[in-house]
Amino acid sequence: MNNNLLPESLEVFEPSTQEFIKSIPATSPEEFLVKIKNAKKKKEYWNNSKPRYRKITLKKFRKAIIKRLEDFIVIISKETGKKKFESLIELYGAVEHLKNTETLINSMFRKKRRNVGTLITKKAWTKLEPMGIAGIISPWNYPLLLTITSVVEAIAAGNVVILKPSEYTPLTTELLKEVWDQSTGEEDVFQVIYGGSDLGSKLVNSNDVDIICFTGSTKIGKIIARDCAKYLKPVILELGGKDPMIICDDTDLNRAVNAALWGGMTNAGQTCISVERIYVDERIKDIFIEKISKKVKQLTAGKSTNCDIGSITTKNGLEKIINQINKVKNMSGIYQGIADDKKGYFYPPTIVVDPNDDSDLMKEETFGPVVSISSFRTIEEVIKKANSVGYGLSASIFTKNKKKATIIAKQLKVGSIAINDVLSHYGIADLPFGGTGLSGFGRVHGKEGIKSFCNLKSYMTNRLQIGDEIWWYSKSKRYYNIIIRFLKFYFG
Ligand code: NAD
Repeated sequence: MNNNLLPESLEVFEPSTQEFIKSIPATSPEEFLVKIKNAKKKKEYWNNSKPRYRKITLKKFRKAIIKRLEDFIVIISKETGKKKFESLIELYGAVEHLKNTETLINSMFRKKRRNVGTLITKKAWTKLEPMGIAGIISPWNYPLLLTITSVVEAIAAGNVVILKPSEYTPLTTELLKEVWDQSTGEEDVFQVIYGGSDLGSKLVNSNDVDIICFTGSTKIGKIIARDCAKYLKPVILELGGKDPMIICDDTDLNRAVNAALWGGMTNAGQTCISVERIYVDERIKDIFIEKISKKVKQLTAGKSTNCDIGSITTKNGLEKIINQINKVKNMSGIYQGIADDKKGYFYPPTIVVDPNDDSDLMKEETFGPVVSISSFRTIEEVIKKANSVGYGLSASIFTKNKKKATIIAKQLKVGSIAINDVLSHYGIADLPFGGTGLSGFGRVHGKEGIKSFCNLKSYMTNRLQIGDEIWWYSKSKRYYNIIIRFLKFYFG
């Protein structure tokens, strides 16, 4: 990857071998303006298109993605370093979301009647309308899934889209755009710009872009929020996480161990909703550590198909993980799997027992195959610990006691909860997804995801034409006492 802010090209390397894959031209400032011009030209047409037509278009897109399924798997794995099975699951999630979005389109854009209360001569309704041009900025960790969900929700809502994928993983988007153009014939409804932070900033700061949807780090999310504030531009922020997993003493221990390992290590731990902090009931802590440490030692990171986890995608990402571990390694118990592939950015699957609560490992997002384990005595204590870091993306609770799960869930300041499971909530396409606190705001997925890209317009008119209203100057004095009597009778 070229590190210039406005590079002429993006050079993409395979993180698991560090071999060069391909160079693709970056979007110049002049080309950016052309894309904006195209979007403005297309906006009226797509904003006013029939929901049914948008549904048909997305269906063609989905079917075309499935036809190129293998190509997507190969390119996702190549540019991110993830395992083929992980790329397959990513694609599964992408088409699941696409299909769910299609099913919602027809009914969502009809007018919806509203109760007029005591104003019985009136009728009122709402209608969802597109914002106009949506700017979408996506990260590298799931270059297909995290791009497609926002793109199709914005398009389903009737917006035209300009997408800026991560500069580290532009190749999946390049394929996605090719498939869109070939299958839909609506090239300018979905346009792509390629570049780094400066280009992203141009998109955010463009007066012609009506809404921004950003998925990425909390640090950049704050910059984007500040930029959008200048224009009072609506913004959806899907940011980082430090998800806790709470394991109670009445849980199915084997399931909890396996869930913790997969939830913390899949995608080499580079998932916004990765399990990063485990809090286990003190009464089962020793047996839990005995089981999980045995298993983590058997996990392997490497390029070979026999290995369980793939590489870290970026060099900076790997350095951050190493730094966090270096700071805690002398005072915590560390159990590690194997990473003997020296060519790529591999890091061994790692469990850290009892790191200091003030360490970066416990406070900052790690974004690597690293999970901490701490213990708790009471529910109050674990809730306080889980809520202590400021992030609030999601959390998981493992217990056989439904009531206990509900009590804990209610008090966690997060956007999503998984009970006796990890990460699967993201795959339920109809379930809204988003964070609280440092994890951002706004919702994607399901109806709420489409609504995020809409202006909800309210309408009213009269059922009957009855001359002046009683609160207008011509009548208000005469009706004063009548209204008083009515209020006492109806609301008293
Ligand atoms: P990042 O914040 O470094 O970059 C994300 C995108 O923003 C990239 O396309 C980048 O070019 C662009 N960008 C950078 N500076 C910008 C600026 N000033 N203006 C506009 N755009 C700018 O994030 P990343 O490293 O690509 O992704 C990893 C992060 O994303 C992690 O923190 C992870 O938790 C988070 N994430 C969140 C979710 C979620 O749904 N909440 C999902 C996946 C990843």
